[in-house]
Amino acid sequence: MSDALAGLHAIVGSKGLLTDPAEMAAYGIDWRKLFPGLPLAVVRPFSTAEVSAIMALCHQHQIAVVPQGGNTGMAGGAVPDTSGRELVLSLGRMNRLRGIDPVGMTLEAEAGVVLQTAQEAAIAVNRLLPISLAAEGSATIGGVIATNAGGVNVLRYGMTRAMVLGLEVVLPDGRVVDGLRRLRKDHAGYDWKQIFIGTEGTLGLVTAAVLRLMPKPSQRLTALVSVPDPQAALDFLVVAQDALGDTISAFELISGFSLGLVHRHFGLSCPVAEGQWYVLIDAGASLSGLREAMEAAFEQAFGQGCVLDGTIAESVQQASDLWMLRERITESEAKESKSVKHDVSIPIPSIPQFLVEAGHALERHAPGTRVNCFGHLGDGNLHYNVLIDGHDPRDINKIVHDVVDRFGGSISAEHGIGQYRVSELALRRSEPEQALSRLIKTAIDPMDLMNPGKVLPRRETR
Ligand SMILES: Cc1cc2nc3c(=O)[nH]c(=O)nc-3n(C[C@H](O)[C@H](O)[C@H](O)COP(=O)(O)OP(=O)(O)OC[C@H]3O[C@@H](n4cnc5c(N)ncnc54)[C@H](O)[C@@H]3O)c2cc1C
Repeated sequence: MSDALAGLHAIVGSKGLLTDPAEMAAYGIDWRKLFPGLPLAVVRPFSTAEVSAIMALCHQHQIAVVPQGGNTGMAGGAVPDTSGRELVLSLGRMNRLRGIDPVGMTLEAEAGVVLQTAQEAAIAVNRLLPISLAAEGSATIGGVIATNAGGVNVLRYGMTRAMVLGLEVVLPDGRVVDGLRRLRKDHAGYDWKQIFIGTEGTLGLVTAAVLRLMPKPSQRLTALVSVPDPQAALDFLVVAQDALGDTISAFELISGFSLGLVHRHFGLSCPVAEGQWYVLIDAGASLSGLREAMEAAFEQAFGQGCVLDGTIAESVQQASDLWMLRERITESEAKESKSVKHDVSIPIPSIPQFLVEAGHALERHAPGTRVNCFGHLGDGNLHYNVLIDGHDPRDINKIVHDVVDRFGGSISAEHGIGQYRVSELALRRSEPEQALSRLIKTAIDPMDLMNPGKVLPRRETR
């Protein structure tokens, strides 16, 4: 092993290699502090050439590699196991924005560029990089691609996958595949980049990407409303879509319980009259009439009784205050209690009934637990987090995911499988689907060196 470490040192130098346990500590544990691991070392390359050399060396020595970006992932995918034999490869030093093209509407960035930095670069040329999530100040381009991150703008712009035009990846044996094309249309052969998007670093390393930009709407409206129940929120979604069309970028469902946590832990108050549930809606357009359309939607929804009270932000500050209520939920939950997170996808019309049945199942099998539910209603994605207060987390997963299965849903909408959901996934996907996944993994990473034990069980336990 000392040979391998010497080889890594020769590639990246002292600046790029950490072996001191104190320096490595932050790389060895995930954001939620649920999966403590022990890195063999942390290597921090500066260029694609260095990544390639590292991967070739690890291939030769059969060392497993765990890619890490901003380490904000929710599924423990970016941290090593406890064996002390897995190398963390952090992309943090590969943080150059290689170019931005406002005419072709593309941005080329290295994997370690922080999402917010890329968003700001797009804004500076009056364009929009619509991938947006509460962790955008730390999450990286490589991380959002590897997790196919969702976030708050999926309703209008799609998941991260929809924004990726070109990709540069390093394969487990060190070969570099340069697909950094800036083309909107490119149907020449297999679109291989898709298999590196959302596969959580289990097939190769994303070192750079060309992302698609969108026109930046010149007007933006943010509103918060209270609604009597989730069915009313869905009724309001239909009214809002009829009135506002595809200008709606976010349609977020928030429970009264979630806002109570934000008030308790951050002192932030909700400006609309109390309801059991709330909807935060964001719309943007460059042509006039957006506000009138939003007001018309409100009027109709009040008339139908699906909205109880509401406010439209009158300034950028007010809009950001409304968004802060949404963005603080995850941190408030972490301060409140241990929780079991569920990031589920449900067919949109079934969401109200799912909530009823999941609630009943928890009352029956795990009485006393509390549910912090919020999410991207317009995408059918709920964060259905259960504050466990002493219950066995595995029981809770099973209780909730069984209900998800009954509705034909998915146990991971956007956070991924990581190590957190490996066994649950294995239980819930058909054998042909699992066999196909294993086939892809084996073809690209036959020695199981790329992020072993994430998404799929380790090779020896398969
Ligand atoms: C407060 C908060 C809010 C969040 N909100 C959302 C949300 O709304 N929607 C959403 O989808 N997610 C959300 N997340 C989860 C997380 O921010 C995203 O998954 C994000 O995409 C992770 O980016 P990262 O750079 O931190 O990746 P990391 O956490 O470092 O890694 C995530 C996974 O990607 C792999 N990986 C990282 N970089 C690379 C690379 N260059 N090449 C190959 N594999 C790589 C890792 O091995 C790991 O499996 C949230 C997280 C927090 C803490």
